[in-house]
Amino acid sequence: MRFRCLHCLHCCFFSTPVDYPIVLEGEVDTLKKLALERNITLNFRRITDQFYLWIIEGFCPFYDIANRRCSIHENKPFSCKMFPLLLNIRTGEVSVSFACDWVINHISELINERNNIAEIFPDEFKAVVNLFKKIKALRSGE
Ligand code: SF4
Ligand code: SF4
Repeated sequence: MRFRCLHCLHCCFFSTPVDYPIVLEGEVDTLKKLALERNITLNFRRITDQFYLWIIEGFCPFYDIANRRCSIHENKPFSCKMFPLLLNIRTGEVSVSFACDWVINHISELINERNNIAEIFPDEFKAVVNLFKKIKALRSGE
């Protein structure tokens, strides 16, 4: 079994603060630059030395609703690259989001294959690993 995004819109539409993406300081800079080019205003709130909460109400301003795709795919932050995987930045725990339609559709298989997250979500898991590496590098001052 392998994850295939259904392009169902849900993960780029935000109705509650608990779903807001958490982004790195460098990602804030990239997003602000892209927003400036498109005359878009973005809102962030600092939550730790390295992380910001990206406050989005409704559709993400980078979401291309007509084509159901992210318009900044190559530059989207780690939290978007890894979804529907979630990383708890305090504990390092990786979990699967129940906000994802594909996850809900495959819940029984996921429970049976719960130790194979890296195989079921290879690209998303790679994003988690890359984020871990980035955080480690930032913390060691690289
Ligand atoms: S940056 Fe792209 S993937 Fe992330 S929420 Fe916005 S549209 Fe969705
Ligand atoms: S909620 Fe899941 S299936 Fe729907 S667009 Fe997001 S990742 Fe894809």
